Amino acid sequence: MTASLHGGCHCGRIALDVVLSKPASEYTPRACDCSFCRKHGAAWLSDAGGSLRVRLRGEPVVYRQGSAQADFIACAHCAVLVLVRHEHEGRVHAAVNVRALAGAAPFADEQPASPQKLAPQEKRERWTTLWFADVRIVDADD
Ligand SMILES: [Zn+2]
Repeated sequence: MTASLHGGCHCGRIALDVVLSKPASEYTPRACDCSFCRKHGAAWLSDAGGSLRVRLRGEPVVYRQGSAQADFIACAHCAVLVLVRHEHEGRVHAAVNVRALAGAAPFADEQPASPQKLAPQEKRERWTTLWFADVRIVDADD
């Protein structure tokens, strides 16, 4: 059984459509302990077997920090942190912030994660394995 989730930023300039390959209860959002994610209270959800659609109205804010391999994407108007994206060999991998999803999906309890302890190559291997690989980011006005 798959699960469809929706969400986005607060003002609606960024919308998310997520399809998970398993029931939501089989996912453990990862509460990243880096200084940036802690300031946002972010917890990350991804599914290499699922899909992610992002519809943008206008340009978002794109921020790089830590080892600068990933783009953190937030709304330029309401400032909600919505997703993180990593490009590798022409492919976009991404994870979504569960705080930006609508409603309360019955995920498993969040677990702490500490990617800042990984070497840059280890991060890439982890992200390209775990994150959404079927990612489409489109301009909603088209
Ligand atoms: Zn917004």
